[in-house]
Amino acid sequence: TQRVVIIGAGIVGTNLADELVSRGWKDITVVEQGPLHMPGGSTSHAPGLVFQTTPSKTMTHLARYTVQKLQSIEKDGQGCFNQVGGLEVATTPARLEDLKRKHGYASSWGIDARLVSAEECLEMYPHLNKDMVLGGLHIPSDGLALAARATQLLIERTSKAGVRYLGSTPVTGIERANGRVTGVTIPGGTVPADIIVSCAGFWGVEIGKMVGLPIPLLPLAHQYAKTTTVPALAGRDLNNKPNGLNATLPILRHQDQDLYFREHGGQYGIGYYGHRPMPVVASSLGLTSQNVDEKNMPSRLEFTTEDFAPAWTESQKLLPALRSTQIEDGFNGIFSFTPDGGPVFGQAPNLDGFYVAEAVWVTHSAGVARALAEILTEGRSQIDMTECELTRFEEIQLSHDYVSETSQQNFVEIYDILHPLQPKESPRTLRTSPFYSREKDLGAYFLELGGWERPFWYEANAGLLNSLPAEWKPVERDSWSSQFYSPIVAAEAWKTRNAVAMFDMTSFHRFEVAGSGALQLLQRLTTGDIAAYPGTISWVLLLNDQGGIRSDIFVSRLEENVFQIGANTATDLAYISREARRQGQWVQVRDITGSTCCIGLWGPRARDVIRAISSDDFSNKGLRYFGVKNAIINGIPTTVFRKSYVGELGWEIQTSAEYGQRLWDAIFQAGKNHGLVAAGRGAFNALRLEKGYRTYGIDMNTEHNPYEAGVGHMIRASKWEEYVGKSAVDRLSKQSPVRRLRCLTVDDGRSMVLGKEPVFKNGKAVGYVTSSAFGYTVRKPIAYAWLPGNLGEGAGVEIEYFGRRIAATITAEPLYDPEMKKMLT
Ligand code: FAD
Repeated sequence: TQRVVIIGAGIVGTNLADELVSRGWKDITVVEQGPLHMPGGSTSHAPGLVFQTTPSKTMTHLARYTVQKLQSIEKDGQGCFNQVGGLEVATTPARLEDLKRKHGYASSWGIDARLVSAEECLEMYPHLNKDMVLGGLHIPSDGLALAARATQLLIERTSKAGVRYLGSTPVTGIERANGRVTGVTIPGGTVPADIIVSCAGFWGVEIGKMVGLPIPLLPLAHQYAKTTTVPALAGRDLNNKPNGLNATLPILRHQDQDLYFREHGGQYGIGYYGHRPMPVVASSLGLTSQNVDEKNMPSRLEFTTEDFAPAWTESQKLLPALRSTQIEDGFNGIFSFTPDGGPVFGQAPNLDGFYVAEAVWVTHSAGVARALAEILTEGRSQIDMTECELTRFEEIQLSHDYVSETSQQNFVEIYDILHPLQPKESPRTLRTSPFYSREKDLGAYFLELGGWERPFWYEANAGLLNSLPAEWKPVERDSWSSQFYSPIVAAEAWKTRNAVAMFDMTSFHRFEVAGSGALQLLQRLTTGDIAAYPGTISWVLLLNDQGGIRSDIFVSRLEENVFQIGANTATDLAYISREARRQGQWVQVRDITGSTCCIGLWGPRARDVIRAISSDDFSNKGLRYFGVKNAIINGIPTTVFRKSYVGELGWEIQTSAEYGQRLWDAIFQAGKNHGLVAAGRGAFNALRLEKGYRTYGIDMNTEHNPYEAGVGHMIRASKWEEYVGKSAVDRLSKQSPVRRLRCLTVDDGRSMVLGKEPVFKNGKAVGYVTSSAFGYTVRKPIAYAWLPGNLGEGAGVEIEYFGRRIAATITAEPLYDPEMKKMLT
């Protein structure tokens, strides 16, 4: 039996102990630096508002499970969750629109929610100022978590089940041997361990340092205050109930002023995100704290009244009942923020047996704990955790400066209305391809991903709009979908389909797997047979043991023992590197993304362009589809991959970074005679969707199997070697999917959606949109959506967009060139 040590007895650590015990784990020790009755971390003073619905399906489902779980924990007839419901009010027209979008997320993710009028808000919440509120979103299943109480009850219940708790015991080191953890150091000894999970909350950075693991979270103080008794709430017998059960009004959000509210018996609690960010260094708070009580604990700093002044004014405006009260008590409480607002979760890339579950809100705590327990027990979690993975961050995103700046920005923007494409304003230009200055010269509009500057369109192509044939003219868009968009995208799509375009592909992850054990490793991890002769590209899946999709990758065999991988995320690199280490046989995995660069040259005239600058054979025979070879282009050594995301003839041309600019210039120059343009990701995304190519993380993830996701063709049925997920997909291939990723086209040919909207059939929400784009070639908006398996091609559905229903039809895919005539010639 494996020995588990959990660091931290907050809401996450105790839930994890509980989830492990319920799965039969026997040897669990929880080590907590503070006293067990009140450890003194963020949980000890969390007001515990649980608003479940977010744009993220993962986070919403983690929250939904937390609600279920907390409802099941009780003692002496009193529970740990007060389901008072949640009310978010709008005081501006923009927020009212945003709440419609949020209502859509709730429908997409299966949370019961209702948009309510101003009058209904007042009925539900009589203290609101009727002159301010325009409407609201009501979620009956939201409520108040009694986090500190739940923690105590979980300690009690798991102790009875045999979990050992070491209170007032700081972990001061992590012991390791041969790349694995062996135990934690505590004063006067060691607690041996095969698995260590750091649930140390905002101290996570300090624990990470013990093993050389950068943890991208920033502890920030956040203000919370309690008023004196509100006359309108006074005198109810609720005042004697435990904190959290002493409330009847819904939890309330006033996001237009960065505020949230809850009742504490007769008093109001007010939380505020509108103040300046106040970063804290956890180690400066001292590792242990003696004499922890309600008012003194390491995670609780002095209240700074002046920072709260605007909050107090705005609170009294929204809730006039507060005008007769004062601030009785307040504090600046510390918890974790991250660069993208998500948790930091999963296995360390550099140390076997070491896991983290940090930067987790009370709202998601039980969900996160269950996911980790499932991963430790069964190797996968039922809720996809890709967007929470510690390894999702790129190296540059782990630097302290980056984490500090972006996490503070996250704090500032926490309640802002953010467009899904809205870029960070800073830090920018962290990673630029060698083509960057040329792209800027062409007026590129850049958006950022993973630190990379990626052109979305080029203003230099604006003139093409005048010569665009009538059937390619872009349709008018509504004000939301026209943000971070330009009609120039239509012109770039047109050029790609009818002439030729060059796309900067540098930001895609590329790494090399080399050595005598490389083939064996990749055969074991992927669904394809990659033992083909050198010069062949295979498009394959990485699966988990249950057949869930971990990623789709391109494996190009460059030499007998050298493979290049084209991957989706840094997590793919971390996974393959870890498996390479485990295999023991000689395999080296090397990230070559930054040392190389890549241009996608695609379109019916691509061959004319490349022939003008290379004497290598680029005929259909000279380099067949899904073939790769070295070639000299304008004197530059390159590796050329014949594949295309946009569905046109052409190649990805890769070279070493120092030749990049020269390669760009050569292609751009040669292309002039053939109508070539530089094209951006706007066109790319639209063209790839017309071809039905899925994007991992958006269209599919670990929750989906290959057959329902429509990528069953990436499984080589005749592959006899064992690989991860083989027995699962053998079984799944015989079942008919209960849900499917489907291609929808919008009937009116013009109404855009952006992704994550709910899809309705006969008035019932039955699925949700993943990717969407305007299909310029097919002259209709396209949306991919997860839908029940029994809905077939031709079936009509409705997509809800800002409360409006848009008719769409399930359509056979791919929409463009299903016979592959364009790419195979
Ligand atoms: P913690 O509760 O901090 O637990 C970590 C534990 O690890 C601590 O007890 C610590 O002592 C221990 N530890 C650390 N280092 C060591 C070591 N070296 N050795 C041994 N033990 C160690 N969330 C919501 O969902 N809703 C809200 O309304 C909400 N409001 C909030 C309001 C405020 C003012 C604050 C500060 C936070 C709020 N949060 C809210 C956030 C929430 O409180 C936290 O995200 C959550 O409690 C974190 O739980 P945890 O178990 O990860 O961390």
